[in-house]
Amino acid sequence: MILIVDDTPENLISLKKVLEKHGFEVDTASSGEEALKKVLRNAYVLIILDVQMPGMDGFEVAEAIAGYSKAKETAIIFLSAVNTELNFITKGYSSGGLDYITKPVDMNILLLKVKTFYRIYEQSRKLIEIQKTLLEEIETRKRAERKKDEFISIASHKLKTPLTSVKGYVQLLERSIDKGDIPTVKRHLQKAQVQLEKLNDLIADLLDISKIESGKLKFNKKYFNINLLLDNIVEIIQQSNPDFKIIKRGKVTEEVFADEMRIEQVIINFLTNAIKYSPGTSEVQINVSLENDEVTVAVRDFGIGIAPEQQENVFDKFYRVEETAIHFQGLGIGLYISSEIIRRHQGVVGVNSVFGEGSEFYFRIPLISSANED
Ligand code: ADP
Repeated sequence: MILIVDDTPENLISLKKVLEKHGFEVDTASSGEEALKKVLRNAYVLIILDVQMPGMDGFEVAEAIAGYSKAKETAIIFLSAVNTELNFITKGYSSGGLDYITKPVDMNILLLKVKTFYRIYEQSRKLIEIQKTLLEEIETRKRAERKKDEFISIASHKLKTPLTSVKGYVQLLERSIDKGDIPTVKRHLQKAQVQLEKLNDLIADLLDISKIESGKLKFNKKYFNINLLLDNIVEIIQQSNPDFKIIKRGKVTEEVFADEMRIEQVIINFLTNAIKYSPGTSEVQINVSLENDEVTVAVRDFGIGIAPEQQENVFDKFYRVEETAIHFQGLGIGLYISSEIIRRHQGVVGVNSVFGEGSEFYFRIPLISSANED
């Protein structure tokens, strides 16, 4: 918008008319004081400022405007009888653009100048926008890089821990075998096996990530009984977490066409998270239902919950809620892999959560997802 400042009403009206005729939006002020008030309230691309006005003259107005952050990009065209006066103002006025037109105003020249200022304004606005996008992009990349570094450091640490344990147990095994102490041999073997299992899971997750990245995550879809699958999972998780009561609700008897092992992986991820992120509680619920030929599985816990602004990120690669990350072991890849698996079954994943009260993670897939999942 353009602001015209002139104490002569006829000048104001005629300038306004011409500019409006050429498609510009125009505002007017009949004194310097009124102009300052308007500049504080509105954003102008250009101010056409009469120099000779009673009260505040045009130069004083321009000087005052130069101090306003809101008018930083605003250009000024002075309407002046004598152009030499301009030297004095240009010194103090560093931002925006400055120009002048001597009176009587030649409308063609004025229009030319107004158009030029508008073009410059548009260009600089576009440049600012591009700069903003670029800065955002740099920030996003830096953040991703930081997350990746963090992930590599945690992952290597997590790989090393079970490996060191296994090495220890193997040494102990050697000694127990020498002594012929078979019960101790069996105990150490069992413990080594648990650590190897951890190692195996971790490497499987890492392989999944790299398969997702290279588009090589393959699915083996068949018909299976999801109810039976859920019962088995609940039994296994219940056994390894005797302090928790896992309550299953609902039943879906229809056969589901999907990759059973991958769906199992998602459910186990939801359940183990539900237990992991719920210290001091003892119940986790799992609910299965069928509606409109879509199966929904939801896992509910009463644990730490997730703040609203973080909920949308938990399915991102390497994302872990920063405030709680130090208290819980994890790599921030389980939910990312889960969401990819569900996406490739034409389904959706989601979370409902109240910070401090608990979370519900769910997925919904069609009863029969397409065999060709991409
Ligand atoms: P990990 O648990 O290995 O860090 P996930 O990808 O499974 O990785 O989960 C990502 C993040 O989401 C976790 O680090 C945690 O901050 C948050 N999260 C996942 N499940 C829950 C849950 N049930 N309750 C609270 N926070 C959760």
